[in-house]
Amino acid sequence: MDIKAPITQDVLTIPRKAPEGPVNLVGLTRDAMRDALIAAGTPERQAKMRVGQIWQWIYHWGVRDFEQMTNLAKDYRAMLARTFVVAIPEVVTRQVSGDGTRKYLVRIAGGHEVEVVYIPETDRGTLCISSQVGCTLTCSFCHTGTQKLVRNLTAGEIIGQVMVARDDLGEWPVPGAPKDETRLLSNIVLMGMGEPLYNFENVRDAMKIAMDPDGIQLSRRRITLSTSGIVPEIARTAQEIGCQLAISFHATTDEVRDRLVPINKKWPLAKLLEALRDYPKVSNSERITFEYVMLDGINDSDEDARRLIKLIDGIPAKINLIPFNEWPGAPYKRSSNNRIRAFADIIYKAGYASPIRTPRGEDIMAACGQLKSATERARKSKAQIAQDAGL
Ligand code: SAH
Ligand code: SF4
Repeated sequence: MDIKAPITQDVLTIPRKAPEGPVNLVGLTRDAMRDALIAAGTPERQAKMRVGQIWQWIYHWGVRDFEQMTNLAKDYRAMLARTFVVAIPEVVTRQVSGDGTRKYLVRIAGGHEVEVVYIPETDRGTLCISSQVGCTLTCSFCHTGTQKLVRNLTAGEIIGQVMVARDDLGEWPVPGAPKDETRLLSNIVLMGMGEPLYNFENVRDAMKIAMDPDGIQLSRRRITLSTSGIVPEIARTAQEIGCQLAISFHATTDEVRDRLVPINKKWPLAKLLEALRDYPKVSNSERITFEYVMLDGINDSDEDARRLIKLIDGIPAKINLIPFNEWPGAPYKRSSNNRIRAFADIIYKAGYASPIRTPRGEDIMAACGQLKSATERARKSKAQIAQDAGL
């Protein structure tokens, strides 16, 4: 029996509210911030303007101390300081890989920890953020999947990861300085820990904040959400977020995908492909990225490559081949370089871009699927991992 359904229910009923204590302004939508300010005594007719001012301080200038919000009256600043906080996750460790990749372990309320990875490239930089502590899904090749879900991140904890990275990169604008068009942190990928579409509202609100023109200002084209294929939420992503979509595809038959990405049992390939076909129209986005992890002898044959092309026929697509990143106890091996190249070649000849993703930050376990905070103890045994993989 598929055990995912009841667990999923639990996740969806996890309250969105942050743990108790003063209200954190980080992560509130503009409307929610307005309501919070009114509840704290701000006259209704002023509330929209106050939101605009505070929003700009927090998300444009990176200011978190109410005292520095100098266009607000002193008394009003004091009231804010009594009632609210502007808090982001705390950095516990920061590791820098030989290739410049930075991995942050950040602590969130409740003492949980999640990982955030910054990957610099020549003309841009991508931040890989997490949406959950652990994951309820159990993809058999994924390290995060061996860690049971602890909880959903709040919107503040999700956008807070972006703010942590901007702090570390020194990327908040300096008043009076000329506008810098080249951004160190120019792209966000929701490819860290967790299944973003099982934490939809918080992910949506956080990404709306990232896109807001009066703050961090990242275009929706520079945000990519990766999902294992939560079909009903894919249409919602198109409508309510409108970002780029990446799909953890990984197999070309239901039989193999059931083993690799068990949520496939609930939403098999045919249903998934139907949802993907509609995505570009509804979101007005370009290509869907098909992520395909290369597992030796499992999903990497020429026949797989040809089947893949047939399946995605008609969908504007880019196929991202990911050499499997091994982790201790992993039940798979990475395909050989020759095999990956041969697979890529078939796809390329069919007219698709098929970049082979170079693993980044492997020396600090920051590569795809390697993320898992060492502090979370609720793990599965090796035997369980092998069983889930159908071995
Ligand atoms: N839960 C979401 C996003 C996080 S995983 C999802 O599954 O899409 C981000 C990407 O890393 C996914 O494509 C995932 O399949 C891939 N991945 C997971 N474990 C991996 C591993 N060990 N090696 C390579 N890629 C992996
Ligand atoms: Fe969860 Fe994604 Fe890992 Fe699957 S691949 S277990 S959905 S984080």
